[in-house]
Amino acid sequence: MVQRSKERGRNRRNAMMGVYRKKVGVVAAVAALSVFVVEVRAEPAPADFQRAVDQAYAKYKDLKEGKNADYIPILTTVPSDLYGVAIATRDGTLYTAGDMDYRFSIQSVSKPFTAALIMQQQSPEVLREKIGVEPTGLPFNSKMALEIYDDRSVNPMVNAGAISAVSLVKAGSEKERWKIVNANLEAFAGGKLPLLEEVYTSEYETAWGNRGIANLLYNYGRLYCDPEEALRVYTKQCSVGINVKDLAIMGATLANEGVNPITGQKVLDARHVPELLAIMATAGFYDESGEWMYSAGLPAKTGVGGGIVAVVPGHFAIVAFSPRLNEAGNSVRSMRAIRWIAGELGVGLYGANPE
Ligand code: GLN
Repeated sequence: MVQRSKERGRNRRNAMMGVYRKKVGVVAAVAALSVFVVEVRAEPAPADFQRAVDQAYAKYKDLKEGKNADYIPILTTVPSDLYGVAIATRDGTLYTAGDMDYRFSIQSVSKPFTAALIMQQQSPEVLREKIGVEPTGLPFNSKMALEIYDDRSVNPMVNAGAISAVSLVKAGSEKERWKIVNANLEAFAGGKLPLLEEVYTSEYETAWGNRGIANLLYNYGRLYCDPEEALRVYTKQCSVGINVKDLAIMGATLANEGVNPITGQKVLDARHVPELLAIMATAGFYDESGEWMYSAGLPAKTGVGGGIVAVVPGHFAIVAFSPRLNEAGNSVRSMRAIRWIAGELGVGLYGANPE
């Protein structure tokens, strides 16, 4: 009896083990398959990258929606038809289509890189405490955001937080502040970047809104140097000239865990990259950040110069440039092109987003 029940037990165990082994086999096969699928999605072949870039370029080449930024007078003179699309993989390989050499002003695309500088020079805690990381759901130049949120400067992707970030940079003089900010952008790009003097003059002469923001922040104890100095250095930061390739390498440096793939320089500690990408994901498109994540599923940053950089963490950057903007100040064609590539390659962070 005992013997038989033992045997029955053993038989049952063996049968169960058989089922279990089969299950393990199936699970392993599914896991292998999904690893395979994820790998295929995240690491397309060179031909896939080039095809995606070419197709995105062709698809939106004739799209004329939106208009150049005009609150910075000189930006109305940038040829509106300029259009470039690129992917840079984490090893610095570039796949490009369209206008690659035109130097446009980096504008707000500079913001995450200066936020990275604060993380690197000081710490992510300093960034969180002295600026903040909450998205505002309001336009990039909102003054109201400073009144409705206790954190005041709010987050480093909007003007207030970005002006505050510049003021936080540890520097002994205005000249040194600018030198550090500029050198940091160059380290991300892996080469010298010019200051577009005409853009700087045009923006600084009309920067009444940003001057108001700087003064309000100072009044609230959320600006950490002289307000006019912060405004000048911030405006210079926004007037740095980049082309699509520079921007692609800046993005690839973030995709490559903070190491510039061209120079090998570690610009941002790998452990800070996820924190930075998180702010880009939640606030990179200001009051359109939700819409962007909903459709593209990638951390990204826009600027009124028409540039956008998006990052597939650990893999590659997708960038585009086109001067015509929508109401939120985001480049219409750049958004469409990047979103289309993200869908085509199936690299949205939360799964493959269909276009
Ligand atoms: N320099 C611009 C400004 O301060 C940047 C804005 C942007 O690109 N969204 O208004």
